[in-house]
Amino acid sequence: MLGKKVKNLVERIFNNVTNESNTKLFLGMLKYIYNSNQNTSMECPTCQSQFHSNMRNTLVGKNKRNASIFVYFQICPECDEPIVGIKEATRGEVYMNPNNIDGVVLLKKEQRR
Ligand SMILES: [Zn+2]
Repeated sequence: MLGKKVKNLVERIFNNVTNESNTKLFLGMLKYIYNSNQNTSMECPTCQSQFHSNMRNTLVGKNKRNASIFVYFQICPECDEPIVGIKEATRGEVYMNPNNIDGVVLLKKEQRR
């Protein structure tokens, strides 16, 4: 995604955090990077409507490869059906930002009528 360019930028800014205005700039950059890493657009597997995700998540446990398994969930704002997804944290994280739904695999079910 953003990768090396951002890393260089962060390092440059970090090395220049010597006064208050630079500190503010640094925090602003962090916020920007944080936000630009968020993929918040998602599609409901039940009604196919598009919306910004507002998921919560919880750690289920670890699998045999020592990856932490998280379940993500919310109620669809359009059809009120549950949206449930699974994400593996390959570095064994015990916390994942629920707003970052990159890599979340949504479970599908039969559409109710
Ligand atoms: Zn829906």
